Amino acid sequence: MDLRFTPEEIAFRDEVRAFFRSALPERIRAKLIEGRHLSKDDIVTWQRILNAKGWAVPHWPVEWGGTGWDPVRQYIFLDEMQQTPAPSPLQFGVYMVGPVIYTFGTEEQKRRFLPRIANLDDWWCQGFSEPGSGSDLASLKTSARREGDHYIVNGQKTWTTLAQHADWIFCLVRTNPSAKKQEGISFLLIDMRSPGVTVRPIQTIDGGREVNEVFFDEVRVPVENRVGEENKGWDYAKFLLGNERVGIARVGVSKERLRRIRELAAMEREGDVPLIEVPRFREKLAAVEVELKALEMTQLRVVAAERRREKGRPDPASSILKIKGSEIQQATTELLMEIVGPYALPYQEEREDGWNEPPIGPEWAASVAPTYFNWRKISIYGGSNEIQKNIIAKAILGL
Ligand SMILES: Cc1cc2nc3c(=O)[nH]c(=O)nc-3n(C[C@H](O)[C@H](O)[C@H](O)COP(=O)(O)OP(=O)(O)OC[C@H]3O[C@@H](n4cnc5c(N)ncnc54)[C@H](O)[C@@H]3O)c2cc1C
Repeated sequence: MDLRFTPEEIAFRDEVRAFFRSALPERIRAKLIEGRHLSKDDIVTWQRILNAKGWAVPHWPVEWGGTGWDPVRQYIFLDEMQQTPAPSPLQFGVYMVGPVIYTFGTEEQKRRFLPRIANLDDWWCQGFSEPGSGSDLASLKTSARREGDHYIVNGQKTWTTLAQHADWIFCLVRTNPSAKKQEGISFLLIDMRSPGVTVRPIQTIDGGREVNEVFFDEVRVPVENRVGEENKGWDYAKFLLGNERVGIARVGVSKERLRRIRELAAMEREGDVPLIEVPRFREKLAAVEVELKALEMTQLRVVAAERRREKGRPDPASSILKIKGSEIQQATTELLMEIVGPYALPYQEEREDGWNEPPIGPEWAASVAPTYFNWRKISIYGGSNEIQKNIIAKAILGL
């Protein structure tokens, strides 16, 4: 299997790289390099720049805005985006509900929703997990009972990422409580402005607000907002979750992080040699770099194999990419913590005159500890790493 890019693919890579460098507003790029949170406006701005270029949804069918690129070009595009670094598109629309709608939705749903996803006119969130139904998703309890041409939805979703910005939520709901658990679920598109929808924030360990609880109290949802057949929602969810893990290795993100780590570790330290000259640190850095190279090779093997794979069927190797990709991303945050050392948790003394001491340490250090804490999530969402190991055991090792 040849894992090298052809001259045409290299030319394509250069074109994509040049576009990303020139089109991405510098303030957004700086935020990503420094590990600061992006605002909704940053993400919308970037998505609209991509849409104007015709690159908002490259993997979609051409009639709905796709580019027709083969899997290698799709990979190069994502990798370059991550390395720039540029914001990843809002995955709930572009990688999750969009493909479900163009694969299983009605013509009316496609016309209504797909162009608005590509331009990020509608912000989507994902309503799958519930308290007690995460890894065991099929046990979900949110109910939808049919009344004429509406469903009446009651229940609770949790960990709903960025629901505070959302116009729409795609939900798994139970439409047949007496069927086997996988067979009584439907896939509904719910307008977040519907009466009876409440969003409550969950504060995360880094002090951020990116996840929420979403409550449904007698919410009326038109039947035309169901995707596909009633009680077949589990099939659409499996299709979606397979897509969720595509690109989850985020090799480009880790490459960019490691570049940043090298740069910061080379800085002068008061009374000490730069960290990059300390053998123990170099050893750890090299170990992560080697792991990342191996991950990249695995990713390229999956991409090369994709040319032959049946379209729409996720490769179980994506579980390996998820596990290694998340471990490496977390390892990069550990290296950054080592670089900032005591500045990781700047102590701000509350003084009697109400004036706070400025944070100790350089400005770039301030985001390192929050990122370290925040990135613990990567081994949980998208199917926890333990669940991925179960998938590998069954689908790859045949246990
Ligand atoms: C930051 C973040 C954002 C998220 N965003 C969303 C979102 O937008 N929408 C959404 O629907 N969900 C979202 N999730 C939820 C996510 O999908 C779940 O957290 C995940 O599936 C795990 O479910 P759980 O939290 O209920 O943990 P549990 O399923 O209760 O698992 C607890 C622990 O037990 C382990 N475990 C469970 N079952 C097994 C098993 N069979 N074998 C071995 N180990 C097992 C798990 O690996 C984990 O370590 C998000 C989660 C996080 C952390």
